[in-house]
Amino acid sequence: MPELPEVETIRRGIEPVITGKKITAVHILETRLRRPVNEGDFEKWVTGQTITGVGRRSKYLLLNMSNGATLLIHLGMSGHLGLFAPDAPLDKHTHIIFDLENNIQVRYRDPRRFGLLEVAPPGAPAEYASLAGLGPEPLSAEFNGASLAEALAKSGRAIKVALLDMRVAAGVGNIYANEALFAAGIDPRRLCRDLSAAEFDALAAAVKATLSRAIAQGGTTLNDYRNALGEAGFFQLELAVYERDKQPCLKCGAVIERVVLGGRSSYFCPCCQR
Ligand SMILES: [Zn+2]
Repeated sequence: MPELPEVETIRRGIEPVITGKKITAVHILETRLRRPVNEGDFEKWVTGQTITGVGRRSKYLLLNMSNGATLLIHLGMSGHLGLFAPDAPLDKHTHIIFDLENNIQVRYRDPRRFGLLEVAPPGAPAEYASLAGLGPEPLSAEFNGASLAEALAKSGRAIKVALLDMRVAAGVGNIYANEALFAAGIDPRRLCRDLSAAEFDALAAAVKATLSRAIAQGGTTLNDYRNALGEAGFFQLELAVYERDKQPCLKCGAVIERVVLGGRSSYFCPCCQR
């Protein structure tokens, strides 16, 4: 599943190529995504517009249109946004094609169809429906040890479960929550209210460092993730605990354990993480 670093990698790949380009046509081949694609909205607010920028909020890509509309794209479980030449063979499961000037095509492909493409019309609130209620961006200054402590100091939840709560931090994701807790030396099962201010500081710093490192490596390719040009990421080579249960800890040699917290697999070193 594409998480924040993978979405950011795609954003960085498409932004310099598509910014300033006009969308000459939109071809919707399949409307049945997580929510039905509203073809009328695309015709009204996207076709004929120039893309003025490509942003990201949590795991949403935000394509800004010259008329003030915003196209929100969430990649779901298996979505991919890629750059193609118009004559490149069409991959199976390509659902939406954007024709841009200068012979550029942006294609949305999604075998499992859990992704989402939605148009926020001009003047829609900055925190459009799908983005409402999201907590601070983990890479922003608003997310730090103090903000984590304020949100969680009284919480009886396991810290790993709280880290995946979008209201606490927008889009840390399971892989990176596991890796950040290892880097901070914190047992994922610890209750939030038992963490010290110093531990919240260490954890916030570890979340930022882990996500930044993953972005620098072009994301994590475990199954089929590719960037906008079809290339794999490399952060999987640096994973210390994620999906490494029963293997030795890279730091101390103890056996990595797996537990399920909040329905998600959690991996940790019983020696390095307390
Ligand atoms: Zn260890």
